[in-house]
Amino acid sequence: MKLEKCPCCLGEAELVNMMVGDTEMWQVTCSSCGLSTELDDDKVFSEERWNKRLERSRLKMWVTLLAAFLPFLAVAAFLGGSFMGLRL
Ligand SMILES: [Zn+2]
Repeated sequence: MKLEKCPCCLGEAELVNMMVGDTEMWQVTCSSCGLSTELDDDKVFSEERWNKRLERSRLKMWVTLLAAFLPFLAVAAFLGGSFMGLRL
C-alpha cells in the first residue's frame, strides 16, 4: 500500500515497526515533523489509518477555507450590491 504524504507538513511518511513484548507493532511516522499514528499490531490497518487521516484533514482544510471566505463573500456581495445600486 502506498502511504500518503503527511497531513501536517506534506512530508514523506514511513512505516516503522518495533517489538512490544512478543508482538510486532506498526506505526506510520512522518519523517519531517514526527506526526505518527498510534502503534498497532495490524500493519495494513496502520497504513489505512494514516491515509484516512489525510482525507479527513483535506476535508477539514476545505471547511476551514470556506468558513474563512464566507464573510469575505458576504462583504463582496454587499459592496457589489451597493455599487450596482449606486449606478442604477
Ligand atoms: Zn509531517
